[in-house]
Amino acid sequence: MNLDIIPGTEWGFFTLPRPMCIAGPCSAETEEQVMETAEGLNAFGIHVFRAGIWKPRTHPGSFEGVGTQGLKWLRKVKETYGMKVCTEVASEKHVLECIKYGVDIVWVGARTSANPFLMQEIADALEGTDMPVLVKNPVNPDLDLWIGALERLNRAGLRKLGVIHRGFSTSAAIPYRNDPGWKLAIELRSRYPRMTFFADPSHMAGDRKYLQELSQRAMDLGLDGLMVESHHCPDCAWSDAKQQLTPKDLQHLLESLVIRENTSENDAYREGIDALRARIDLIDENLLKLLKDRMDVSRAIGEYKRAHNVAILQTGRWEQLLGDMVSRAAELGISAETITAIMTAIHDESVRVQKL
Ligand code: PEP
Ligand code: MN
Repeated sequence: MNLDIIPGTEWGFFTLPRPMCIAGPCSAETEEQVMETAEGLNAFGIHVFRAGIWKPRTHPGSFEGVGTQGLKWLRKVKETYGMKVCTEVASEKHVLECIKYGVDIVWVGARTSANPFLMQEIADALEGTDMPVLVKNPVNPDLDLWIGALERLNRAGLRKLGVIHRGFSTSAAIPYRNDPGWKLAIELRSRYPRMTFFADPSHMAGDRKYLQELSQRAMDLGLDGLMVESHHCPDCAWSDAKQQLTPKDLQHLLESLVIRENTSENDAYREGIDALRARIDLIDENLLKLLKDRMDVSRAIGEYKRAHNVAILQTGRWEQLLGDMVSRAAELGISAETITAIMTAIHDESVRVQKL
């Protein structure tokens, strides 16, 4: 699916070098809390302030956001500190209120990007504006649903689109609140390299003690930016208290990150990488030839089995072969998981070829 996108570096909000950073509290709670947090963030160069005005909570009766009055506080952040402001929208009403109060960027939350009805409602409400929109991944790991959400916005004429990877709901026992599921994010990244890509380590982690490692990982994977929850008094926060950082702690976290360049124009680097890539290309070519030879032998085995009236699938033989490969791979430092995935794919193709 083709998306017509303007990269975030051209929206006029985000400063390079990486990481581009959006920070602010989970929720706007009071005018004082919003202003004090914004002051702390502005003090070390954060240009884009976030705060949830309408909060999607699991249980009714939890704090569900201050609503429209909070947009006036965001406007005050803009006027006082010259920061850009962003908040979450989940309906037409939210969008119209954001436009009215001069919100600079909106984001779509994980529970909303999973819902095509709401995505269409938001896209329709934004049509005719050039509002930048950041789309969080849906709660479930469904790449097409995520892309579909972006498509709906794009068809409504919105081109300033970016994504925020915040991990996926899981029932597995993991230390984080959400499964980082980096693989899916990287798949999206490689399909749409021009699209600005944020990670949200706060919602991924659920606990501030994991923020550093997840932020570093996001940078190592070459993502453009981070959206991090920051509150002037995290322990007093009305939502997501455990995962928020003071502005000072966020500053320290950002300073601790090791940022490696995505690409380098340096000539010596280019020569080195080109030589290594040439070796990889040759190995891949040999792999293809070997695979073809293997398939030819498989086909011959299929004919032989047929001539002797023997079933194609011999599970005992396959289990033995896989077991041998797993132990030989271990000696070469290749994991059981990797070799099993490779051999299973090869074996499936062999069975298919034998049946032809
Ligand atoms: C948020 O950013 O405050 C939020 C509710 O995030 P998510 O949609 O990722 O759960
Ligand atoms: Mn939150």
